[in-house]
Amino acid sequence: MLNRRLLLMGAGATALIAGARWMQGEDVQAATTFEVQKTDSDWRRQLTKAQFEVLRLHRTEIPGSSPLNQEKRKGVFACAGCDLPLFSSETKYDSRTGWPSYTAPLADAIGTSTDHVLLLPRTEVHCRRCGGHLGHVFEDGPPPTGLRYCINGVALKFIPADDA
Ligand SMILES: [Zn+2]
Repeated sequence: MLNRRLLLMGAGATALIAGARWMQGEDVQAATTFEVQKTDSDWRRQLTKAQFEVLRLHRTEIPGSSPLNQEKRKGVFACAGCDLPLFSSETKYDSRTGWPSYTAPLADAIGTSTDHVLLLPRTEVHCRRCGGHLGHVFEDGPPPTGLRYCINGVALKFIPADDA
């Protein structure tokens, strides 16, 4: 994150594009201290290689690779890094993108920052508690929110509801 922030400061044009969100402090939020903090080597021990690459290195899983794309039971999708419940099956829908998609997160579950990996800024979504990268949110989702939380399945753990 530090490298990306430095890069951003050097890239005047990109910073201008990001202006509004920058001023709202989304990047500042991303740089704040998280409740669950571990060193990279601790995370590497705890997570699988695929989980580490997405949660800690902000990589993106291959579309269609997550078994959670097909998960249709009732339950909760929790953070694979710290077990915080993030999304309910109630808001899951098939976006046909190959990534598990939701119209809304659970309350007080996620944080966002502005991502400049691609040319246009995107809204990055991470776990509020451990800062683990989850995916992105786009404004082309279905009602009722019109939002599409496009989440890497490998960053999630599905916990079926008791009555499922
Ligand atoms: Zn987490």
